[in-house]
Amino acid sequence: MNQSDSERIRSVIEGMGFEMTEVEEEASLIGVVACSVRQKAIDKVYSKIRKWNQWKNEKPLVTFVSGCILPADEEKFLKLFDLVFRMNELPDLPDMLHQCGVTTEFSAKHPLNDLHREDERTDFWQVEPTYSSDFDAFVPIQNGCDKFCSFCAVPYTRGREVSRSSEDILAEVQKLVDQGVKVITLLGQNVNSYGLDKKGEEISFAELLRKVGELGNASGKDFWVYFTSPHPRDMTRDVIEAIADYQCLAKQIHLPVQSGDEKLLRRMNRNHSVDDYLQIVSDIRELLPTATIFTDIIVGFSGETDEQFEKSAELMELVKYNMAYIAKYSPRVGARAARWDDDITPQQKSERLARLSDVLKKTSQEYNDALIGTTCTVLVERVDPRQEGALQARTEGKLPVRIVDAPATLVGTFQTVEITSAAALSLTGKLV
Ligand code: SF4
Repeated sequence: MNQSDSERIRSVIEGMGFEMTEVEEEASLIGVVACSVRQKAIDKVYSKIRKWNQWKNEKPLVTFVSGCILPADEEKFLKLFDLVFRMNELPDLPDMLHQCGVTTEFSAKHPLNDLHREDERTDFWQVEPTYSSDFDAFVPIQNGCDKFCSFCAVPYTRGREVSRSSEDILAEVQKLVDQGVKVITLLGQNVNSYGLDKKGEEISFAELLRKVGELGNASGKDFWVYFTSPHPRDMTRDVIEAIADYQCLAKQIHLPVQSGDEKLLRRMNRNHSVDDYLQIVSDIRELLPTATIFTDIIVGFSGETDEQFEKSAELMELVKYNMAYIAKYSPRVGARAARWDDDITPQQKSERLARLSDVLKKTSQEYNDALIGTTCTVLVERVDPRQEGALQARTEGKLPVRIVDAPATLVGTFQTVEITSAAALSLTGKLV
């Protein structure tokens, strides 16, 4: 989401006459799109702004911060940055920068010239982004969250759920498909609650997927559409059926579970049971037999006993994830759980994380081993910086594949590869 937001901020700034530089020291305007999910990311923002403020003694420099910012950090940032703004204020960024002494003019082609102000929560989505890749694009469909998981501060930083108009989403997807983009990721904090804030006026997430699927069929082009992140509570069977019905809807599901223990799920305010979750997994296995499944899981949440942790390990054994983003719990100021004891020691958290990593490696290795000797389509993403003459690619199920002996000109294209070897979390293949 931050990358997607940055792409829209970049359009507005470039439209004011600024040019992008890769060299931080050269910049006269510099900003950061913050993430409050982990303290480490926010600590980095503080260290950056201290450095930038020192540079101000040597040259003119304007600084800004946007993105996910907790109210407590916002107060501090107001004293450190020239400008703090929320993404929905993006259309006013040129005015705000002028107030900070920035004197550039709008170009005739400025993306804000065509903006129709209708809803101050969603107008910023009309700003055409400057995509950072020619073949892989993010399309925001929804912002904010109404779920209030007890460990998470997003509803306090991003606000309540707001859905973007399906007409705008489909227009952006169509444009990307016409341009030949190969991967489109529909984005939102809680992507599959799309439309629930506009019931009766807007289509549902499953209907949106179907419209994207129809658009894919009509285009006659090959591309893969992903979405992230969904919540199990809104992962209805009709969403999975839609994915099954259209070729362009990628057979890969990222389904955060966070814990395998009932009581902990309740303490996390996830509003679903372990059985509910396993039913969704069973629907995915039935309707999307080739799909890979990824998850997010937290170890060492406040009060997590050894027995409760074991339930998470058991669930991981059962589901056999292809990938799991395992995080050690750390309290986020503003989230409800921040008021509870962070009572699992750092060592226990590390041990639990290592244990779940082992489960993941075991199940994903089994899956990957079975792919040796098969052929599959991959999207080549980049040159492999660690091995000369090799490329990094991904399968439709987002499994990373290193292709040996392949030219860099293939970056951004679909290729067929034969899988020649498998590691726990990656594959190696050769061009067919
Ligand atoms: S669903 Fe829960 S974890 Fe995800 S953004 Fe909302 S509150 Fe945070």
